Amino acid sequence: MLSPSLEDYLEEIYRFSVSHDIVRVTDISHKLNVKLPSVTKAVGKLRAGGYITYQKYGVIGLTDKGRQTGGYLVERNTLLQEFLRTICADCDVDAEAEAMEHYLSKTTIVSIQHLMVFMKEHPTTYQQFVDYVQQSKKKDKER
Ligand code: MN
Repeated sequence: MLSPSLEDYLEEIYRFSVSHDIVRVTDISHKLNVKLPSVTKAVGKLRAGGYITYQKYGVIGLTDKGRQTGGYLVERNTLLQEFLRTICADCDVDAEAEAMEHYLSKTTIVSIQHLMVFMKEHPTTYQQFVDYVQQSKKKDKER
């Protein structure tokens, strides 16, 4: 199991690898705004876990396991952002999805996925929910 911090590193390495041919330790350091020694330490742990390879000049490569897990982490983050928007949460969606992602079990993630698909397949029902939320917010304001 990866710690929240290592999950974030792997997630960012994966994101970067999708749009760039080469991922360097310095890229991740800039992207996450953390000092180079911290990134090097995290990268060492990810390598020990078999998620990445680490070559000369700070070049990071993803193993199959790393690519698979990284892809899952990105999808999970996207799903939680979508979830927060779907329930009409008045929050900083990026920040809250970022905070939630590490603490939910895989089965809860699957349940949220089911809810998202259900809402998409039942737009009328979803609209009822949105109307209900808007009415509730209006009532709360009037109180
Ligand atoms: Mn996170």
